[in-house]
Amino acid sequence: MTQASSTNAQGTDTAENTAVLSRTQDVILQALEALGYDRQIYDILREPLRVLTVRFPVRMDDGSVRVFTGYRSQHNDAVGPTKGGIRLHPDVTQEDIEALSIWMSINCGIADLPYGGGTGGIACDPRDMSFDEIERVSRAYVRAVSQIVGPAKDIPAPDVFSNSQNMAWMFDEYSRLREFDSPGFITGKPIVLGGSRGRESATARGVAICIEEAAKVRGLNLSDARVIVQGFGNAGSFVAKFMYDAGAKVVGISDAYGALYREEGLDVDELLERRDSFGTVTRLYRNTISNRELLEKPCDILVPAAIENQITRENAKRIQASIIVEAANGPTTAAATDILTEKGILLVPDVVGNSGGVIVSYFEWVQNNQGYYWDEHEIQDRLASRMRMSFQHVFQTATKYRVNMRLAAYIVGVQRMAEAIRWRGWV
Ligand code: GLU
Repeated sequence: MTQASSTNAQGTDTAENTAVLSRTQDVILQALEALGYDRQIYDILREPLRVLTVRFPVRMDDGSVRVFTGYRSQHNDAVGPTKGGIRLHPDVTQEDIEALSIWMSINCGIADLPYGGGTGGIACDPRDMSFDEIERVSRAYVRAVSQIVGPAKDIPAPDVFSNSQNMAWMFDEYSRLREFDSPGFITGKPIVLGGSRGRESATARGVAICIEEAAKVRGLNLSDARVIVQGFGNAGSFVAKFMYDAGAKVVGISDAYGALYREEGLDVDELLERRDSFGTVTRLYRNTISNRELLEKPCDILVPAAIENQITRENAKRIQASIIVEAANGPTTAAATDILTEKGILLVPDVVGNSGGVIVSYFEWVQNNQGYYWDEHEIQDRLASRMRMSFQHVFQTATKYRVNMRLAAYIVGVQRMAEAIRWRGWV
């Protein structure tokens, strides 16, 4: 939990709330109040129903044994089994994982998927580990959480620094434990192991569809648009590529080490060719700027696709974009959301913007359950129509309730969960 100190409009020092969990709880409460639900529903939804912390030893390549800490948080299973990624990152904390699992519930609610939200994490830095060490950690994590996950319980998927290879090891480990081939246990698998076509680029494709919808609302032609993408991982790099292919000018990108801004536009194909598997590329270029500076550069569309708390009360007023689509989770604080909304910026929140990933994960799970696989067109068409529906639903809700897009998204996202809780007789 962090509190960043900053100065408010009156010039007095106050702490800005950058704690993702309490920020999310505030919006859930506001959404339930707008819908007229009583406090009991909030008491159920404000925290996950189940959080498991595990510690597991793994032998490292040098013969030593290291004990890793992992988490799996299941926010709410009133609608259906829980669903969400597994993050491998040194900064993973239980609180972040809990907040992420709540966001997944909202994501699934907006996209109308038959799931509640879940999220897992392992505190480790795969950038400093060998291939074999990452495999042993991935398998050991599955053994540690195996009791609470499963195709009809809680279905993991990739997240920051985990990919189809991690999913393949985890799927293999789980199937061995159960002595039963269980592809529906996890999504984001390689296609040959029951993965879905289109899953790898799904998050970015969903972001691109939101950009198209937002551009239509604002009467902006994509081929005239200047785009900045912060982050060049699985989401950011594909978003940059989709925008580049759509004829937009990608003027800025960044990674964990710095950013590139070129008024005349960047060659995204070249950047993709030179990036490593963790999305690192800027170190190969001269004239770099910082991530902070990049956000404030001139552009029409800004896509934060890196980490949380990038747009704060301090820099929000200097953002020049007219459309922001959040691909990362939690990149904008609550105070910054208010400032951006006041400035008339159309902000598409994370729980809408990045739901392409879980939507195609749902398609993967459906295909696994039915044992029949769709072609790429089928996937793209279904993804596009669900994303457009989500965007429109949230946009119309914002107009109807006269609230910003984030609160509107939560109003749409919590409603089905609240109804399911009532039907089940939990309150
Ligand atoms: N963090 C993931 C994503 O958005 C997980 C969603 C899922 O279950 O596929 O890509």
